[in-house]
Amino acid sequence: MSVKDSVTKLSGVGAKRAENLATLGIERVEDLLEHYPFRYEDIQERKIAEIQDQEKVTIKGLVVSPAVMSRFGYKKTRLQFRMMQDHDVFAVSFFNQPYLKDKVEVSTEIAVYGKWDAKRKSLTGMKILAPKQEEDFAPIYRVNKAVRQASLVQLIKQAFDGYYDQIEENLPLSLLEKYRLMPRKEAMYSMHFPKNIEEHHQAKRRVVFEEFFLFQMQIQGLKQQQRAESNGLAIAYDVAALKAFTQQLPFELTTAQKRVTNEICRDLRSQKHMQRLLQGDVGSGKTVVAAIALYATMTAGFQGALMVPTEILAQQHMESLVQLFEGFDVNVALLTGSTKTKERREILSQLASGAIHVLVGTHALIQADVEFSHLGLVITDEQHRFGVNQRKILREKGWRPDVLFMTATPIPRTLAITAYGEMDVSIIDELPSGRIPIETRWVRPPQMPQVLKGSLTQLQKGHQMYVICPLIEESEMLDVQNAVAIYEELQDFYGSDYKVSLLHGKMKNQEKEAIMEAFKQNESQILVSTTVIEVGVNVPNATMMLIIDADRFGLAQLHQLRGRVGRGAVASSCILIANPKNETGQKRMQIMTETTNGFVVSEKDLELRGPGEVFGSRQSGLPEFAMADLVADGHILEVARQEAAAIWQQVGWEVLPDFAPLVTYLKTIQQEKPFFD
Ligand code: ADP
Ligand code: MG
Repeated sequence: MSVKDSVTKLSGVGAKRAENLATLGIERVEDLLEHYPFRYEDIQERKIAEIQDQEKVTIKGLVVSPAVMSRFGYKKTRLQFRMMQDHDVFAVSFFNQPYLKDKVEVSTEIAVYGKWDAKRKSLTGMKILAPKQEEDFAPIYRVNKAVRQASLVQLIKQAFDGYYDQIEENLPLSLLEKYRLMPRKEAMYSMHFPKNIEEHHQAKRRVVFEEFFLFQMQIQGLKQQQRAESNGLAIAYDVAALKAFTQQLPFELTTAQKRVTNEICRDLRSQKHMQRLLQGDVGSGKTVVAAIALYATMTAGFQGALMVPTEILAQQHMESLVQLFEGFDVNVALLTGSTKTKERREILSQLASGAIHVLVGTHALIQADVEFSHLGLVITDEQHRFGVNQRKILREKGWRPDVLFMTATPIPRTLAITAYGEMDVSIIDELPSGRIPIETRWVRPPQMPQVLKGSLTQLQKGHQMYVICPLIEESEMLDVQNAVAIYEELQDFYGSDYKVSLLHGKMKNQEKEAIMEAFKQNESQILVSTTVIEVGVNVPNATMMLIIDADRFGLAQLHQLRGRVGRGAVASSCILIANPKNETGQKRMQIMTETTNGFVVSEKDLELRGPGEVFGSRQSGLPEFAMADLVADGHILEVARQEAAAIWQQVGWEVLPDFAPLVTYLKTIQQEKPFFD
């Protein structure tokens, strides 16, 4: 007998029922025990004087008037009666549940769950609860058509009756004591059937700790393992040559750029297999840092690769690098999906011979037939777009090249140590001096005409403007139509004074490039675009950005977008046009107008929307936690991480008795549901 038993071991569960349970992901007894409620119905007795208006509560009281049923509308019914709690009398109505009439008997005590209207002193009932409920909190589970609430409760109870003693502890006793955590079986039981709020709180604290801790044990283990087996490349770059290169740059590096460059160079030079995340706000100057690292790698006789998510960005990085390397003997090549076959063949052969020093490109870089002669450093830009597995493929190209992941989406620390826990982190936390902060304003759609009029001032001064229309993947066609409509509208408005151009995702790459190029050359002054220009595009003469339906973007994305302006010496502005329906939407727009710091933006976005929404957990490499919340439980994550790291640092910890249950448990989850594949 073990919690790994199939649910069919429980009485009343046959093949059919097991099949139904499987639709909820419940196959074993253990799945049932860990199918925690997503909320509880609080049926603690509440005093009506203390209940907030519109609060959903359970009120116990005495029925003091018979239930009267009335009919209205088509097939609609209302059941009304009065109840008394202490000496307060209040009205109760149930809509369209005529059958409840029999449950309401004068002079009996009942408990009604419903929504309280404080002004009218009335309760709109949703259901009548069984009179002798033993728990104060009734668990409410995620269910579906095949499995009903009540039967699930009954099954879970049965599972605990039969298997409670089979639930094994998986945390070391030392940690349970140190953090006063509930034993596992008690916590699991209390997650379902807490006696009171405090007990629920303690149970949840234990479960969240466990989840984070087990995750951190794995991620720290991975890090340890990578360290141990991967004495990577020692890239002994030419210090004097690198100095000469940095000194001839057209500007002095900021302190932050110098610091991260040192961190990266130290990793390059050492035997350590570099896996470093470079975070820096838009415009903080990551490209130069990348160029320095690539140059250093080349001086040591190794090749470098720079991988980015879009063709336009690849093109642009190519140009920047060619410019930065001017006068230095660096052979840079560009490889994307649209590289012609003949050219591609040529590049591949030069790559294999070592004639190409730096290869820039899109995902095309990780195709199987792309072979380097001696790859030393891989850099990816906009790293959040690459998932864990793509990161791995990259790492496995060549003989353990050092890897640098760059991102302009600053990630709060809690998320960074979760999603990228196996990496070291470098942060560029300052912008080059002389930048004038971008002024961001939020206006409602009816103000569009004024905004357009206002744009004339900047255009008359010879500046340019971006107009961004949202692109939502599911209906790309509609979005394109929308962008076209706006494009035409603007053409009407600006007439022959200024040229408007249009860029959208349905266009061919060549077409896109031609349009970007024309905008760069100021052949067009207004660029209407879907988010295809999101990353990296650099046109310093563009000083204005209009974002239409701005509330359809994530905050991080808005921040990215507005980073396209403010790249020159002139004050720039970003205008968000949006009519958000709810308070969260309004708050999000507000935040954008209040700060230009990307870390603050992403922190706030997380608070408002949660990590799943912000990152789309699948592709970001963020694991999905059942109970733990990366934002709300961030402090627990930090503690769990420290404890896990400390354990991995003890030599031979695996054989210490205190860790025996943990070792066993980790082995099982490694086999059954690993965080990494
Ligand atoms: P990021 O990739 O971080 O968004 P970039 O590397 O594209 O930023 O740099 C933005 C602009 O700032 C570029 O035009 C670059 O030449 C310039 N720049 C970078 N570092 C400095 C510096 N230390 N001082 C002045 N300008 C800089
Ligand atoms: Mg960049």
